[in-house]
Amino acid sequence: MLTLGIEGTGTTNRFKGYQFPKDSSMNRGDYHEVVNIKKDICVIKWKDSKTVLTCSTAIGALPLHKVQRYDKVTKSYIEVTCPDMIKNYNEHMGGVDVSDQMMEVYRSWHKTRKWPIKLIMHLFDLAMVNSWYEYRQSCDRNKVKNSNIMDFLDFKICVSDFLLGGSTRKRTREEFEEMAKMPSTSHYQPAPIPTIDKRLDGYNHWPVCDSLKAPRCCRVTGCTSRSKVRCTKCNVYLCSTKDKHCFYVFHNEK
Ligand SMILES: [Zn+2]
Ligand SMILES: [Zn+2]
Repeated sequence: MLTLGIEGTGTTNRFKGYQFPKDSSMNRGDYHEVVNIKKDICVIKWKDSKTVLTCSTAIGALPLHKVQRYDKVTKSYIEVTCPDMIKNYNEHMGGVDVSDQMMEVYRSWHKTRKWPIKLIMHLFDLAMVNSWYEYRQSCDRNKVKNSNIMDFLDFKICVSDFLLGGSTRKRTREEFEEMAKMPSTSHYQPAPIPTIDKRLDGYNHWPVCDSLKAPRCCRVTGCTSRSKVRCTKCNVYLCSTKDKHCFYVFHNEK
């Protein structure tokens, strides 16, 4: 990878050709560095509570840093010397761990033995985690209230909702007529409230007035009225009268 100009840092446990000092002969904060100038690689053995072996083609031991550690013996915090390579590794490895963790939470599951499918699913999950992270950063910058920030599951549902149906493609007349069809009356079950993204996307939310015997509960929180006006995209009933503008409110307010 180095010949391609890509540098790397990582832990290792397989290392031959050099005898590092034994664990027991090292004190906390001690380190031992070996550099192979020909291969531009540096290996460090460092002792924290245990010893670790890291190698890097990018960073060496210097400059040294001080890290805070809890000392079980004196029951207090102490400062431990830490080589630059380890500090960098720990800082960036944290990010990789968080990313791996997040990917496990709602992993796209697809039973297959074909590796390309697995790889594509994996990359898709990775892209989801990364974009959720960017979304949260953008929320931070725009000072969005915490309660309005989507959690990872909501975010994922929103994206899939958009990819599946909320496209910007113009609907055909047939599709619209299909949507405008009244939901069957025999077993009426109110549709779930759409995701915030779909609700507020400002696209294709058409009101139709169904010929119902009795109007149905309006789905705006706090409204107790009933209505025969339904949004064809969200498939929910909303008031739209001279005094009640629930249809407008539902599609415009967070
Ligand atoms: Zn709607
Ligand atoms: Zn209402």
